[in-house]
Amino acid sequence: MISDKMKEYVVGSSLIRAMFDDSKRLISIYGKENVYDFSLGNPCFPPPEEFKDTLKKIIDETDPMVVHGYMNNAGHESVREKIAESINKKFNTDYNAGNIIMTVGAAGGLNVIFKTLINPGDEIIAFSPYFGEYDSYTANVSAELVKVPPVLPGFEPDLEALEKSITPKTRIVIVNSPNNPTGVVYSEETIKEIAAILRRKEVEYGLPIYIFSDEPYRELAYDGVKVPYITKVYDDTIVGYSYSKSLSMAGERIGYLLIPDEASGADDIISAATVANRILGFVNAPSLFQLAIGECVDMKMDIDCYDRNRKALYGGLTDIGYECVKPEGAFYLFVKSPLADDIEFCEKAKEFGLVLVPGTAFDCPGYIRLAYCTAYETIEKSMPQFKKLWDSVQA
Ligand code: PLP
Repeated sequence: MISDKMKEYVVGSSLIRAMFDDSKRLISIYGKENVYDFSLGNPCFPPPEEFKDTLKKIIDETDPMVVHGYMNNAGHESVREKIAESINKKFNTDYNAGNIIMTVGAAGGLNVIFKTLINPGDEIIAFSPYFGEYDSYTANVSAELVKVPPVLPGFEPDLEALEKSITPKTRIVIVNSPNNPTGVVYSEETIKEIAAILRRKEVEYGLPIYIFSDEPYRELAYDGVKVPYITKVYDDTIVGYSYSKSLSMAGERIGYLLIPDEASGADDIISAATVANRILGFVNAPSLFQLAIGECVDMKMDIDCYDRNRKALYGGLTDIGYECVKPEGAFYLFVKSPLADDIEFCEKAKEFGLVLVPGTAFDCPGYIRLAYCTAYETIEKSMPQFKKLWDSVQA
């Protein structure tokens, strides 16, 4: 018999995953060529060829006991050193291997840091709309997720509401930019304003309030837009990075946490997070992929393919009449649902072979999310279907 808590999770299981699974059902009914799946943020382009060569070289040329064995729970020291050096070069910082903990993706990093910092009943703040798994990860540590609404139509966080939401129990504010699901990138000015509020509240309550900068989409920013490095603005920042999207390896589960020395209690946090990595059962991030990342630490994917998709989808949908903020990063479009009920609209979309995710999954009913990490042809061919869907719901 499963636990009561798991019963709840199974019932309320991810709407995104449900849509992804539903696309398989639709394919069996309508055929692959007639289903346009925009549900999951699963990159459709392969990792760079050079990455594959690096993997092979490591397997052939490195001591197998190093490649396949356990190591320090924080990860291979040589890899952590290379990552720290790479960050230092990019952002003019002064980190070393001791500030880095290799994790099982950004999701692993979030769970490690929650386990490290949170007592039952503590509060974690997220800006709506947000990655729905924050709810589950918060529940994992018996904390409360406090939601701050966006300012529409641009989906910037409502800073007055942020200030009012902070209590003596607030331990973490999650900042996710470039954002899933909106594609919005927060400006340096916005980050500075958030930092100023948190500093005031830290003084008022006499306790640190950490920003957790959830950055799986850092490398996916378009039109030359800059993604501020938050540790430079606010000392109590912990960064969670992932290679899932930036190098197209979501299934390999590899990322890292950066815990700067400037963060309050940094030494304790680094030790505790290393233990959390172990006792959560991750033990350590996958060894082979750590080593490969160490060799390819500055490798970048060409994001022109996503940019082309972004322009085609945004242009095509707004020409039809759909309303949407133009995304500057990540690979998502967050579109106003033509029907007030976003879940009903997503059900209707399936009749046209379109698999979309309701905004409800991101605490933002009345919107729908489209992941454009798809083939360009999917976008091109889906346009007549989006038009038919639009016409079908006009009064
Ligand atoms: N955070 C955000 C905002 C995400 O969108 C995702 C995945 O989609 C994650 C974290 C988890 O990423 P990873 O695959 O690196 O665990």
